[in-house]
Amino acid sequence: MKMGLCSFCLKSGILCQKCLAKVKSGEISELDLKIARLLMSLEEKYPSLQNVYFHKAIDADGTLAIVVGPGDVPRLLGYGGKIMHALGDETGRNIRILENGVDDRKFLEDLFAPMNIVTINTIWLPDGSMETRVILRRRHGGRQSFDMKPLKDIASKVRNITLRVEFAD
Ligand SMILES: [Zn+2]
Repeated sequence: MKMGLCSFCLKSGILCQKCLAKVKSGEISELDLKIARLLMSLEEKYPSLQNVYFHKAIDADGTLAIVVGPGDVPRLLGYGGKIMHALGDETGRNIRILENGVDDRKFLEDLFAPMNIVTINTIWLPDGSMETRVILRRRHGGRQSFDMKPLKDIASKVRNITLRVEFAD
């Protein structure tokens, strides 16, 4: 796994001046460090993680979003979902894997997976602010208890998007 810390610091757990400055400035959070170490600890068992670039982690109401480099999502979803399982067990959170540097549509598809997005459009409010409306397909017999609030928080924190979520009948 790669990230904004030098690999020596990542492996040793002791931070050099340069890496320490990134933590102190908030560029890398304590949560980022925790998740980075967790991903490192899984590398031996799941070598595809060696090529993953970890950007940051966001914790929102029991859901943990892990933001990785473009194209890295399949590297985390492989092994029959075992990495996702391990991450969920270790953190006690629902895990969402998101890619950095993708367009809004791809970001939202990953955020709401496995639900299907029917439409995405932009709504301008009278005060000049903007909301992104996502219309999801209701899954017959699917989990109705899917909690939208953490996903809205994540969209706001990661992409600065204000989401309005609706369902198509
Ligand atoms: Zn360092």
